[in-house]
Amino acid sequence: MKRSEFLRASALILGGTIIPFRRINSNIFPDEIPGLTEIAPGTGMYAERGGTIMWQIRDEMITVIDSQFPDTAQNFLNGFRKKSDKEIDYLFNTHHHRDHVSGNEVLRPHVKVILSHENCARMQKETFNPDGGVKLVTADETYSKEWVKENIHIYYLGKAHTGGDSIIHYTDIDTAHLGDLVFNKVYPFIDPKGGGSIKEWIETLERIEKKFGKSTRFVFGHAASPADLTGDIQSVKEMRGYLSALLDYAKMIHKQGRVLADASAVLYIPGAAERKEMRAGALKLNIETAYKEVAGE
Ligand SMILES: [Zn+2]
Repeated sequence: MKRSEFLRASALILGGTIIPFRRINSNIFPDEIPGLTEIAPGTGMYAERGGTIMWQIRDEMITVIDSQFPDTAQNFLNGFRKKSDKEIDYLFNTHHHRDHVSGNEVLRPHVKVILSHENCARMQKETFNPDGGVKLVTADETYSKEWVKENIHIYYLGKAHTGGDSIIHYTDIDTAHLGDLVFNKVYPFIDPKGGGSIKEWIETLERIEKKFGKSTRFVFGHAASPADLTGDIQSVKEMRGYLSALLDYAKMIHKQGRVLADASAVLYIPGAAERKEMRAGALKLNIETAYKEVAGE
């Protein structure tokens, strides 16, 4: 049986449309690298622990987005090296959180240039607390609003999840990595200390909706399931809808002069679809953070 036929047969048995092939066959075919998924020719993702890594191999340029943690960055590199043994031209960092960039240390010797938004580089230096042998390795080059090279267009569209979130758009395949600007179907982490703001996050998502079309595919840092790590503009709208409902809810509590002692009793935000908790207490933390933002604390 040819491999393509085998895949079709597997899909029929497993109801295929729901379960992506790669997750099924990664253990069946030894040449498949666990976690390393191709989403377009020469372009793919790597999901293990922490924010989703994206990569592209082209004749002109090899690029990687984010690096997770040192141990998972090494696993990624081991798999990636089977696809290309050339030096990586650019490693882009979507933002400064450790689950996205602490693997920079491992990728560094294989990368020509690490690039991030200027605020991302600054906040890595301010907030990174090296421990467990993790070294701080931050950008060689930074940009402030836009950065363009060949098929890659990078934007900073304002404060959101942090104060330095980049959107990396591969225009040749109309696919953009949104970093943690969208937590797809899960409650987000909001980081006011790292420059994040719910109000401005909503505005930034509006800008994304204006800039990208219905045909654009997005890659997300975190999602409720591996299949949800990619999506379309609908996921961006849902994220904005959730944040708007969260902020409205916090405003209502604040206006009524209610104290927030009962935040853990809240099971969902009125007007928003329920999301999964990546960590217990994520919704409670969202409400408390929103309340503080509304109250100006
Ligand atoms: Zn993050």
